[in-house]
Amino acid sequence: SDETLDPMAERLVSVFHGARSLADALTTTDEDSVALCRARNERLASLRATFNLTPEEFNQLWSQVSSDWREWGKIMNIEADCKTTPGRLAELARRPEREPEPEAVEGAQGGDIGDGEAALSTGPASENANLLPTAFVRNESNGGSCMRVLVVEDDPITRKLIGFHLAKDGHQVFSASNGKEGLKLAFDHSPHLVVSDWMMPELDGIELVRSLRRSEEGRHLQIILLTGREEEQRVIEAFDAGADEYLTKPINPKILMARVRSAQRVFGLREQVKSDADQLSRKVAEMAVLNRKLQMAALTDPLTELPNRRHALERLSQEVAQSMRDGTPLSVISIDIDKFKSVNDAHGHDTGDAVLRDVARSLRGCVRATELVCRVGGEEFLVICSRATAAKAALIAERMRLASEANTTHHGEFRRAVTLSLGVAEFDRARPSIDGMLKLADERTYLAKQGGRNRVVAQDAGDSALRATG
Ligand code: GH3
Ligand code: MG
Ligand code: MG
Ligand code: MG
Repeated sequence: SDETLDPMAERLVSVFHGARSLADALTTTDEDSVALCRARNERLASLRATFNLTPEEFNQLWSQVSSDWREWGKIMNIEADCKTTPGRLAELARRPEREPEPEAVEGAQGGDIGDGEAALSTGPASENANLLPTAFVRNESNGGSCMRVLVVEDDPITRKLIGFHLAKDGHQVFSASNGKEGLKLAFDHSPHLVVSDWMMPELDGIELVRSLRRSEEGRHLQIILLTGREEEQRVIEAFDAGADEYLTKPINPKILMARVRSAQRVFGLREQVKSDADQLSRKVAEMAVLNRKLQMAALTDPLTELPNRRHALERLSQEVAQSMRDGTPLSVISIDIDKFKSVNDAHGHDTGDAVLRDVARSLRGCVRATELVCRVGGEEFLVICSRATAAKAALIAERMRLASEANTTHHGEFRRAVTLSLGVAEFDRARPSIDGMLKLADERTYLAKQGGRNRVVAQDAGDSALRATG
């Protein structure tokens, strides 16, 4: 409102003008027109005069600014080559003038700010840094996987600056302007990393950290807390609340990004550990399945897929234990195919095998869950009849004999049924012996053979004589 600017504002204006003049001069190249070079050179001279700089001081300022410019260029990933010196600019300005060139107009533009410089401060309206001009987004890999990063910061400039650097390194950025909003976004997007300011309206950084750590999702993410100088004394509080890192404001983007990369390493290691663990448990599960298969293979006869001798003996000892415990009966049927050798001899081993498979199928068709049919030898089978007396087992045996008689095998020229000789024995709890029971069943099978084959023997000759007479 006043006619005269106050001295502070006046000085600020001079600094901006000076900065602009220096920036233009620094970016001059040999291709620029004489008029442009002359205008820039003149503005440099007035800069020197305004700030009353000696040539040494001016040269020092020039080299300081150009090296800072290069550094920032690297951070922002934009070309920031300073190809000129004050001496070279003076030389370019002294060249003989040719026809006027369009760029010469720039010299008259004064303090206008070019578009390029606006990208950081104003740029696109959106908070989301992934809408930044593509020229600023680095294409090369960031050396690790991209993370979802939540930036919670009430100061819009800081928020944009952080978002900008994160997006430039290929991360997906979500921004919130207070802790409450941040908490909501954290649950919506489950970020890998949260970069949060401390002092914020609604819900401050410490409270946000505490809330996140209380939740299942928030327990695993990494949190960097930004602290002003006044909060530095309370850094312990930040760590106790659950922060992984803290950074002092104003933010140095290089330090910030180094911290982000460190978070990325932790995240990568965690993923590695997780995938190792997953792989391990998959392997353990595979091994359990394999183990089960091996176990089954060790207990199964490959030709008939019936339980083998080993399986039969294991089951028998369980059944005997059960019988001894609760006094229930237990019986077995020993089966031998009649004249099986002649099948092999007349029709070949393959036909013999086909017959064995058919007999197995037929035997299995005769039993229920309480009986177990096993192949215990070449053409010998054993049926374990749990909770069955010899009389009941004899009925089952008779069913098997009849079924086999009627079960014609078709294999090449071979077209007939085979018969069985079956011996039944019941477990004797007074003289408990598995071997004794099996021996008795085998003896009765032999008796069946002797008696003319294709028959069941369920008791000794003496018994039947006794019964016959009794
Ligand atoms: P019987 O029992 O009625 O006295 O006469 P058999 O001809 O069945 O007697 P033996 O026990 O001497 O013959 C059994 C034959 O079974 C001998 C063997 O060649 C045959 N054999 C054993 N295992 C297999 C096999 O896995 N496949 C085939 N094809 N034959 C087998
Ligand atoms: Mg035999
Ligand atoms: Mg036989
Ligand atoms: Mg035999």
